Amino acid sequence: MNYQEALQILQIPESRATEQEVQSAFRAAVKRHHPDTGGRSRDFQQVIDARNTALSVLSNVRLPRIELTLVQTVDGMSRCRLRKTCPSCHGIAKTATCQACNGYGVRCRSCRGRGEKIVPCTTCRNFGYVLSEITLPERDLEKRVVKVDGVSYQAVLV
Ligand SMILES: [Zn+2]
Ligand SMILES: [Zn+2]
Repeated sequence: MNYQEALQILQIPESRATEQEVQSAFRAAVKRHHPDTGGRSRDFQQVIDARNTALSVLSNVRLPRIELTLVQTVDGMSRCRLRKTCPSCHGIAKTATCQACNGYGVRCRSCRGRGEKIVPCTTCRNFGYVLSEITLPERDLEKRVVKVDGVSYQAVLV
């Protein structure tokens, strides 16, 4: 059983998979499948395996998450599209004092009374993230630990 199959058995979408989610999905599944309450022991064993598999992946991964979309795998290398926080603005819109009113704000149409304006980020056009592509070993993707620009991330396939 691999990680993805385990999550399917526990009925957890990968984007929401955390240790806590796995534990609570496991408890719910145990209620449904426990042999003492009429469940089949084969299903019950499968739920236990699913929890162990999911936890073994999630527990050694306490890394920042990165969302990847698999494009294709050729010769053991996987090409993925990824969304990463904008390196220029770090996903947080920068603001600057409004030039029109010098930050006074009152009755200023230029800044609509806020006294400051958002400085457009030319890298991400204020989306806060940028899209790019990386190629990495298929093995890393299976373990859900990937390195991007020298930093390790927990990969979430979307
Ligand atoms: Zn930006
Ligand atoms: Zn203003």
